[in-house]
Amino acid sequence: MKSSELFDTAKTLIPGGVSSPVRAIKPYPFYTKNAKGSRIYTEDGAELIDCCLGYGPLILGHCNPVVKAAIEEAAAAGWLFGTPTEKEIELAKIITGDHPSIDMCRFVSSGSEATMAAIRLARGYTGKKDIIKIEGGFHGAHDGVLIQAGSGATTTGVPDSAGVIPEIVSHTAQVPYNDIEGLEGLISKNNDIAAFILEPVMGNIGPILPEKDYLTEVRKITAENDVLLILDEVICGYRLGIGGAQVMYGVKPDITTLGKIAGGGLPMGIFGGRRDIMELVSPAGPVYQAGTFSGNPLSLSAGIATLKHIHENRDLYGRLDGLTKIIHESLPAGYRDSFVRLGSMFKLFFRESPPRNYIEAKQSDTEKFGRFWTGMLKEGIFIPPAQFETNFLSSAHTGEDIEKISEAYNRCL
Ligand SMILES: *Cc1c(COP(=O)(O)O)cnc(C)c1O
Repeated sequence: MKSSELFDTAKTLIPGGVSSPVRAIKPYPFYTKNAKGSRIYTEDGAELIDCCLGYGPLILGHCNPVVKAAIEEAAAAGWLFGTPTEKEIELAKIITGDHPSIDMCRFVSSGSEATMAAIRLARGYTGKKDIIKIEGGFHGAHDGVLIQAGSGATTTGVPDSAGVIPEIVSHTAQVPYNDIEGLEGLISKNNDIAAFILEPVMGNIGPILPEKDYLTEVRKITAENDVLLILDEVICGYRLGIGGAQVMYGVKPDITTLGKIAGGGLPMGIFGGRRDIMELVSPAGPVYQAGTFSGNPLSLSAGIATLKHIHENRDLYGRLDGLTKIIHESLPAGYRDSFVRLGSMFKLFFRESPPRNYIEAKQSDTEKFGRFWTGMLKEGIFIPPAQFETNFLSSAHTGEDIEKISEAYNRCL
């Protein structure tokens, strides 16, 4: 197998053989040669139906011709100028037009950068030090959010990575998802909280869905206590619909972070929000933020092409929702209850009921999941190689793909 040999070499040159840890599938990951539509083609000659889609960005599938043409056209004009371009204005108009909460936005190169900047901005705006995040919630790989998930609302400050110093994470508190009382408790005990950051729908451990009124309550409590609400919609943005989860659930955050789909599959992060907050970002204001590749013309072009295509084909969301419903309904009876789906996000949890939070998700049978994952790959279906990653569909998935996915589920389960 060519992949196995490539991985052996990679391990001698790159830590763990990979450029991001989730890719280190055991015993070795398959290497991708190319991809098109709903399919990935491996270096070992396999053709796979892709339900990972780059961990979310590729809502139009691989190599969408419209996006490809936009990237090619942009590349022909040059790919880095170190000056503003008109494309920044074009994408900013789309983003602000689609999100009632976003008056202004800034482009960066990854979701991690966006959440890092959003947290700094919240601290700069409020003059307060601490932040609250959801237990087990993922916002990228920077120090202030790499906190171990512990046992409930009082946990603060145990780094989740070597090299993160306790002093930094001591300013980050965690609360379980869907726990309003826990959030109230934390906020009532501490008046130095700058922001509460959360994924409105937990995509990184899920999907885990917000319970009725959870997000509205979150908005109410944060507003009443002068805590900024940062909705991290790096996955949900344009995945659940135009305007993301905030439009779907009718909540208006102070700051939003976007990425993934908004960059059309090229590196992208965006943070945006209320004008009075955003005007604190340098050089308009004192909160420093900068990047050589920020707003690069290729990412902007891929993002613009993707979002325009979505605007012109809004019915894709309804169609994708129908497709995950077909998969759900095709499952053997014992598994339907713990299959969670929202639009084109879906996941089978190997436990009895859908989890409400991280701790419950962690009770899933990961060993069973591992065997299931391997079986699915043999059936020609690539789902993310972790029980705790969301599976996705794209507009390139066909009815026939869905039939194959459903059949594979049934055989593997
Ligand atoms: C992927 C993701 C990030 C990090 O984005 P990168 O582009 O990988 O840095 C942040 N927040 C959420 C919710 C994400 O899903």
